[in-house]
Amino acid sequence: MNIVLMGPPGAGKGTQAVRIAETYGIPHISTGDIFRATVKAGTALGAQLQQYMSQGLLVPDEITIQIVHDRLQQPDCASGFLLDGFPRTIEQAIALDKTLGAKPIDLVISIEVPDEELIKRLTGRRVCQNCGATFHIHFNPPQAEGICDQCGQELHQRVDDTITTVKNRLEVYNRQTEPLIAYYREQEKLVSIDGSQAIDQVFQDITRHLGVRQ
Ligand code: ADP
Ligand code: AMP
Repeated sequence: MNIVLMGPPGAGKGTQAVRIAETYGIPHISTGDIFRATVKAGTALGAQLQQYMSQGLLVPDEITIQIVHDRLQQPDCASGFLLDGFPRTIEQAIALDKTLGAKPIDLVISIEVPDEELIKRLTGRRVCQNCGATFHIHFNPPQAEGICDQCGQELHQRVDDTITTVKNRLEVYNRQTEPLIAYYREQEKLVSIDGSQAIDQVFQDITRHLGVRQ
């Protein structure tokens, strides 16, 4: 199955994507994760990406589209994939359809959460830069404060999870990404999930739409 996970920043896409990818045995492709790895690598492209990401702005379509196009050519995507955080503009969605050709997107899962809740989630989010695990200081705390449950490394706050940048990112989502909901609804691919529920409940609702693994 070719799946897109949509939703505003902080909706729980990454949290759910890890579970979906594991349950259904498909690769989890997060453009945000790919970009953060590129920034960390210290390349010239990384320096360019950082300028957009630190302000909460979208990385230009031509860069993003090419990176996803290349990733989707990898053999592990042949029997399905889960895109997290892509597409984020209509142009990206059109380019994705073109890349996929005869094996199009099967389902778009839109996780919906009110803005006040998103702000609480993003400002309390803590991530492990070593293994990528995500926690929340109140809603999904690690067993030992500031330490990753999975690999024991120190947890960090993302540089774009500050209140000012979070507000920019929500505005960018509403202006540039939200129109994709209508785009996919017209294609009859969209399912909406109430993301304000507990993590396990959100996952149960998602699996109801994906069915039991064959
Ligand atoms: P996204 O990938 O959509 O930006 P994340 O999966 O990183 O969102 O989740 C944002 C923050 O909210 C994280 O700190 C995560 O632990 C927390 N979170 C995720 N899902 C829920 C939920 N259903 N209820 C409460 N907190 C959640
Ligand atoms: P995320 O990890 O999904 O919250 O993404 C972090 C940041 O990476 C965003 O705020 C954007 O700056 C950039 N980004 C991630 N995915 C995309 C995309 N599909 N298009 C443009 N920019 C993106």
